[in-house]
Order: sequence, then C-alpha cells, then structure tokens
Amino acid sequence: MASTAGQVIRCRAAVAWEPGKPLVMEEVEVAPPQAMEVRLKILFTSLCHTDVYFWEAKGQTPLFPRIFGHEAGGIVESVGEGVTDLIPGDHVLPVFTGECKECRHCKSEESNMCDLLRINTDRGVMLNDGKSRFSIKGKPIYHFVGTSTFSEYTVVHVGCVAKINPAAPLDKVCILSCGISTGLGATLNVAKPKMGSTVAIFGLGAVGLAAAEGARIAGASRIIGVDLNSKRFDEAKKFGVTEFVNPKDHDKPVQEVIAEMTGGGVDRSVECTGSVNAMISAFECVHDGWGVAVLVGVPNKDDAFKTHPMNLLNEKTLKGTFFGNYKPRSDLPAVVEKYMNKELELEKFITHEVSFSEINKAFEYMLKGDSLRCIIRMDA
Ligand code: NAD
Ligand code: ZN
Repeated sequence: MASTAGQVIRCRAAVAWEPGKPLVMEEVEVAPPQAMEVRLKILFTSLCHTDVYFWEAKGQTPLFPRIFGHEAGGIVESVGEGVTDLIPGDHVLPVFTGECKECRHCKSEESNMCDLLRINTDRGVMLNDGKSRFSIKGKPIYHFVGTSTFSEYTVVHVGCVAKINPAAPLDKVCILSCGISTGLGATLNVAKPKMGSTVAIFGLGAVGLAAAEGARIAGASRIIGVDLNSKRFDEAKKFGVTEFVNPKDHDKPVQEVIAEMTGGGVDRSVECTGSVNAMISAFECVHDGWGVAVLVGVPNKDDAFKTHPMNLLNEKTLKGTFFGNYKPRSDLPAVVEKYMNKELELEKFITHEVSFSEINKAFEYMLKGDSLRCIIRMDA
C-alpha cells in the first residue's frame, strides 16, 4: 500500500450527479491527504437514512455532484503531515462528526459537539484548503459530511477517524460508525432510563432499534415501538420491543394513545424518524414531572417544533443528540469492544448485502422500508 502514498489514486466511486437520480459508478481521482488528513481504503459501507435525505434533497440544501456515504469501515492507506496517531494499515471507522481533542467541547465531559469538526451537512469541501479531494477529469466532486464513503478511497480529517481493534470484522462493525452507535448512545448516554422504566421508541429503523436495544440493556420494563410501517413490528420483537403502536390505527394523536397505555406517559422517549410530527409526539408522550424525550432524527431544513410551553413548565424535558453523545475517537473503540465481548449483537441489524456495483439496490430497499442495514461490499 505504501507505493500509492503521495500520489493521486484512480478508483471507483458512486457519484450522485443530481438529486434523487440513481448513483453512477465513475472513475474518480482521489488526491493525497493534506495536513491533518488521512486517506482511507473503504472495505465496507452501508446506507443510513441521512444519506437518502440529502440525496433526495427534498427538504435539505442540494449540493451536487456529490459522493455520499458515512457509515463505513476501512484501512488507512496514507496519512498527511501532522498526523501522529494513525499509520497506514490501521483499521478505522470514519465518523460524520469529529473530535479535534483541543476545543472546549472536546475537553468537556458532556459534549461531543467539537467546534472544528461537528457535523456540517452543507460543506462539501475539506477544511484545510476549502477544496475537494475528489475530481473527475479535473472537475471537482463534493464531499458529504466529511466522509464520502461511497468511494473505494476517500480523504477524511484525522479527527473524524476512530482507530479500532484490528480483529473486529469490518463488515459488521462498520454499522457502528453511525446508526447503531447513535441509537444506542441516545438511550444509554442521553435518555438514561432507569431500571424498570417505560420507554417509547419512535421509528423502528436501525437507529430506533438500536435505541430499543439500549433500553433493553438499561433494564426497561416496557418498550413501546411506534412506526407507520407495520412490517417493522415483527422484526422489532428481536430488539426487545414489547408493544407496538401504529399511529395510522388511531383517530387520536399517538401521544394520547401512549398516555392512556401508561397511566399518564412514558418515562423516556427516543425519536428516530426525521418527521417533525413524530418529534412533537415523542416529546408530548413523556410523563410530566420527570419524563425525558430525546430527538435523533434529522429534520427538514424549514421544520419548526411547536408545542405548548406548559408542557415544559410541567417538567417534561426535551433533548437532542448527534451520534448518541459519543466522542468518535475517544468512545467508539469501546463500543466496538462491546460487540467483540458479545454484549452487543450487530448481525440482527444487517438485513441485506450488495456489491458496490449494485449500490442503487440499497437505496431501493431503504425506500421500500424493507431493510435495516444493507452492507455494501467494495471489493465486488
Ligand atoms: P429508517 O428509514 O431505516 O427508519 C425510520 C423509520 O421511521 C421507518 O421505519 C419509518 O417508517 C418510520 N417513520 C417515519 N415517519 C414516522 C412517523 N411520523 N411516525 C412513526 N414512524 C415514522 O432510518 P434510520 O437509518 O433508522 O434513521 C432514522 C433517523 O435517524 C433518520 O432521520 C436519520 O437521518 C437519523 N439519524 C440521526 C443521527 C444523529 O446523529 N442524530 C444519526 C444517524 C441517523
Ligand atoms: Zn448516519
């Protein structure tokens, strides 16, 4: 691998030329990493709903042509100037939000919102020089959330790379680089349900089911799953979900249904849908006096959250989180170890697998509501 260091690499990437149009497999040039950057060989990537939102660009700022992808596992190919804690050959997970280790957020025990590297969905270039490292015949192609893993090689800021146990199978732990850690951490690190409590999970995709897994690990007595897609309910039982509510089956708002089921509301709720209506329901369905709701879904850019302020006076708490409050470099290696120690099962989240050349199928599965996570193998 050392032979490619410092050189432009030509490789395959799945390029989104226009919103909502199938990705096109192209030969791209990937420039060498600059200061504080690393170039990764991606071995496995998977599709998260956040990729789909920004690819559809219905309620998000469009930026094209772009290389999407942020849930992945790979190996360091080469490092730029100033990179001291990674070397070629290291096994890594790239993460859409970073950790510079120097700012007030990185030094705070409470925050993972790094001043320098926190998620930025509108920026399509690298921080160092404001340029892209991808091009096709000299024409730049934009990055996505600093990761762009739908490419055989990508360039990422060192602060967005978690070095993990080289024995961990990358085709499984790649899903920890976004969705599963996000859902798990939203429950364990942010909602923090007590043993025996009731928890509602809105949205039973991979993120929501990982949040349910967190509730199970925390010892919740009832885990109420809420989804518009009834097909999700059977699968959710494997993740400890004990009861189901489909808002479409009721004439009244789902928060009222949940209040009736639980004698006034749940102790904790975690929203993993991206729908602002579900966010409002998730907040309003928690019990007054102590209930805590955590928002995880990515809203549309013009959404506004509307609730009566009396809900807050009545001591319901509203929170939100990116990446489950985990600091990517400091905390993610330990989440990988949870899988290695069999405290966390990842296989049940992986419902599909496709080769890189068939990547558009992964989008179809997610849009049909058939998949949790679809692994995309880069070598095929
Ligand atoms: P997914 O599409 O697999 O799952 C979403 C589920 O929500 C689907 O089953 C869908 O039927 C359901 N749903 C949609 N609207 C609903 C509503 N109004 N009420 C009830 N259920 C509804 O998506 P995913 O990959 O699991 O991601 C879930 C959300 O989490 C997305 O919004 C994604 O962008 C977001 N996300 C956030 C972070 C973060 O750090 N905050 C990280 C990863 C993903
Ligand atoms: Zn994601």
